[in-house]
Amino acid sequence: MAKRDYYEVLGVNRDASEEEIKKAYRKLAMKWHPDRNPDNPKAEEHFKEAKEAYEILTDGSKRSAYDQFGHAGVDPTMAAGAGAGFSGSFADAFGDIFSDIFGGGRTRSGVYRGADLRYNLDISLEDAARGSETRIRIPAMEECATCHGSGAKPGTSPTTCSTCHGHGQVRMQQGFFSIQQTCPRCHGSGKIVVSPCATCGGAGRVKQHKTLSVKIPAGVDEGDRIRLSGEGEAGMNGGPPGDLYVVIHLKPHPVFKRDHNDLHCEMPISFTTAALGGDIEIPTLDGYAKVKVPTGTQTGQMFRLRGKGIKGVRSSGHGDLICHVAVETPVNLTPRQKELLAELEAINQKDAGRHNPRARSWMEKVKEFFAE
Ligand SMILES: [Zn+2]
Ligand SMILES: [Zn+2]
Repeated sequence: MAKRDYYEVLGVNRDASEEEIKKAYRKLAMKWHPDRNPDNPKAEEHFKEAKEAYEILTDGSKRSAYDQFGHAGVDPTMAAGAGAGFSGSFADAFGDIFSDIFGGGRTRSGVYRGADLRYNLDISLEDAARGSETRIRIPAMEECATCHGSGAKPGTSPTTCSTCHGHGQVRMQQGFFSIQQTCPRCHGSGKIVVSPCATCGGAGRVKQHKTLSVKIPAGVDEGDRIRLSGEGEAGMNGGPPGDLYVVIHLKPHPVFKRDHNDLHCEMPISFTTAALGGDIEIPTLDGYAKVKVPTGTQTGQMFRLRGKGIKGVRSSGHGDLICHVAVETPVNLTPRQKELLAELEAINQKDAGRHNPRARSWMEKVKEFFAE
């Protein structure tokens, strides 16, 4: 079946304001909410269609992409919850807009997907460049090992909730509507724990630490995320676990600065080497590289070592290493050194245009400026 135009789905004009879109969606969602149409199998479809249209059209960048390219411009599976099972994503899908109507963002069956977790991992530049494997320790709500998640003391089992008769939902009258709500007694599980498990106090989950091994692919950069599927918090009442996102942060390096796949470093060289030229050793991620410095090298001059940078996760080749030369003025001079430098300077001054062309042309500019 061809996808309907989002504006048509919501019955609004193409220049509708966010408020109008929200209003139209509310109306449709009330009409097609699956809880209110238990006998109409088409209701959920209508409901999802409206929800997708709402999610795209209330997201500024997605809306403009849709206006420009139509359905090809937006991928609805990227919209929150659209690709997931209906019951699992119910809470996220409603959260904000429906809490006032349906009273809270609970799922119909009390089934929750566990929360996604984020872990900030600081790694060295070398580990990021070469890839590595590390172990991390994360706090997580895990299924209680004593009661295996039931929350009941071993040897006992939870009884069916008498308020909702095990459905986890109760019908409530609210204004004109009779709506379903999560059972306030059992919180949607449909079961009541009479003798709670001593380990978890009846929750079925306990806060624990777990150690995970994380493979860091070679070339990762600041802000890259590694997803460990199913390693987030455990779900509730049989819901699937969330995911764990390991977010990469690069520790500052004493020698190198990273810029995407290129590395930069500053290399101080002596005044004499700069003047006479010579071989210097430049540090790279795998040892030193010899570089010939030409005579008359100046501060700020750059030497590019091709392929001595980092090979990014998604790039085909290595970046470069760019070495920025800084000529170091000698300090703590002895009388003899001073004498030699003074002698050198006296000779330089005899033909300053030849030996200090920059200073010379600068002086000329200054003179012209004052002459006007
Ligand atoms: Zn337990
Ligand atoms: Zn109940």
